Amino acid sequence: MGAGSFKKRVGVLALQGDFEAHERALERAGATPVQVRTAEELNNIDGLVIPGGESTTMLKLLNYMDLKEPLREFAMKKPVFGTCAGAILLAKEVLNPSQESFGMVDLTVERNAYGRQIDSRVAQISPEAAFEERTGKGDMEAVFIRAPIIRRAGPDVRVLAEYGGDPVLVEQGQYLVATFHPELTQDPRVHRLFLSKL
Ligand code: GLN
Repeated sequence: MGAGSFKKRVGVLALQGDFEAHERALERAGATPVQVRTAEELNNIDGLVIPGGESTTMLKLLNYMDLKEPLREFAMKKPVFGTCAGAILLAKEVLNPSQESFGMVDLTVERNAYGRQIDSRVAQISPEAAFEERTGKGDMEAVFIRAPIIRRAGPDVRVLAEYGGDPVLVEQGQYLVATFHPELTQDPRVHRLFLSKL
């Protein structure tokens, strides 16, 4: 898929965090993304990316912008892709500390779970066949930045990649969740997989 050839409208929540990197990644995957900051802008898109950043700050801004309910309603119907802080917002249960979330995806996540000494790293991961069959074969570079660990995944969650025995890329219906940052590498496969859900 070349840049701009994808015709559905994909938004990136642009309150805080690395939303611009997601815009570039979506462009590499063939889409023309738009920034989303209001409920009205949510009405004009077919799918949404919630970027990495700081989930507590994002929650505060969502409250402040009166965007929490509109986002919840949007996510009930449409595809949403959460990376890192975005993954934390989509999870059913959040630990360390416990925190409010949208609960769309049947996951328990522990924030900042890799600990202080090695809280950020670039790892090589081998995606599952369920991923490669849809997006192309090959290992993937995964950038972890103060990442959460998925401690529990419910029966409807499909694991698409693991790192160190923990799921790091999962899907559940129209939702896609990565605890790492596919927007920070040149590999377009994860964003392409999300676009295929729109
Ligand atoms: N540590 C952040 C949080 O708990 C997530 C980090 C990230 O998005 N890169 O929200």
